[in-house]
Amino acid sequence: MSNQITPSHTVVLVVAAGRGSRSGADRPKQYCMLGGKPLVRRSLEAFLRHPAVSAVRVVIHADDEAAYREATAGLSLGEPIIGGATRQESVRLGLEALAAAGDAQRVLVHDAARPFVNHAMINRLLAALDVMPGATPALPVVDTLCRESANDGTLPLQGDAVARDGLWRVQTPQAFRFETLLAAHRAALAQGNDSFTDDTGVLRAQGHSVVLVQGDERNMKVTLPEDWQRAGEILMSISSIRTGLGYDVHRFAEGDHVWLCGVKVPHTQTLAGHSDADVGLHALTDAILGAIAEGDIGQHFPPSEPQWKGAPSWMFLDHARALVEAKGGVIEHVDVTLVCERPKVGPHRPAMTARIAEILRLTPARVSVKATTTERLGFTGREEGIAAQAVATVRLPAE
Ligand code: MG
Repeated sequence: MSNQITPSHTVVLVVAAGRGSRSGADRPKQYCMLGGKPLVRRSLEAFLRHPAVSAVRVVIHADDEAAYREATAGLSLGEPIIGGATRQESVRLGLEALAAAGDAQRVLVHDAARPFVNHAMINRLLAALDVMPGATPALPVVDTLCRESANDGTLPLQGDAVARDGLWRVQTPQAFRFETLLAAHRAALAQGNDSFTDDTGVLRAQGHSVVLVQGDERNMKVTLPEDWQRAGEILMSISSIRTGLGYDVHRFAEGDHVWLCGVKVPHTQTLAGHSDADVGLHALTDAILGAIAEGDIGQHFPPSEPQWKGAPSWMFLDHARALVEAKGGVIEHVDVTLVCERPKVGPHRPAMTARIAEILRLTPARVSVKATTTERLGFTGREEGIAAQAVATVRLPAE
């Protein structure tokens, strides 16, 4: 008979009670933003999306309740559990809370500072639990290891090489049969043994075997200040490219200048509109909104609202840029085409490129402004108005 445990009883315990903070941050690192999302939220979302996971609980520090609520808004998590003075104590308190709740049969224990847990790894761990009481992801040590002799940054002349054969770097999540891990933690407490840095250690100390399953290099732990850059690079490496298209038209009216791509251009007429009628920036704003699937400019800035009357259009573009940023995305490139007989765009093109680059916080090399006519055909050819098209290319982090 299979000893497979039903998936409905697999609970995840995420340990987020640590005090380590990102240098300069006002909060522990697990609540700091990575690509527009709190670090802890990324792994929580990955667990919540996994079909075998029935509940996710987080162990937090008593001082962090507000930061926790903010970071996890909208996620369906059980109530947070207040942790203890050490990681080991925090996990034990988490397990006791799960025991009180009743139905956990398998538990995955995960560090909040590892944002890149993936489903393939979770599947490997759960499969291993069918035959073993514990399983942990790990990677073999491939670099040469050495131990410095005098803590002075130099190596001894001989000896002290550390054999790397059979050495592994152990990650989380670690998976366990629930009752076995709970009993091991209770036993460690009773024995006064409080020096464990992970839960496989707690289990092994009580004589249980833990099997290694394949870890993942991307499943890094954000520990040092420089880790944030690598985490950002991993996030981008699992990101996707999106393209958005924008189109806009404004009609001519009486006046002496037009706003085009953020630049005031003298002309014998002006463009009519609720805002400054910058047709180029409107098309570009729509292109960016399209790339991130956030509707169109009219939804964000309804012409019916008087507050946008005469508004400078850089505000709309800046808003779209901020939305991309909030999603942890990056604008890779934008390309605008103005369609008109007059005014001549060419002399103003460098200023337009520079202005768009400034608003979008890009280098000018990532901004293209072009112009064309319609050979005197149609409404632009008759100089009744100006049309603009734009394309934006955006890189968004994986969902
Ligand atoms: Mg418009």
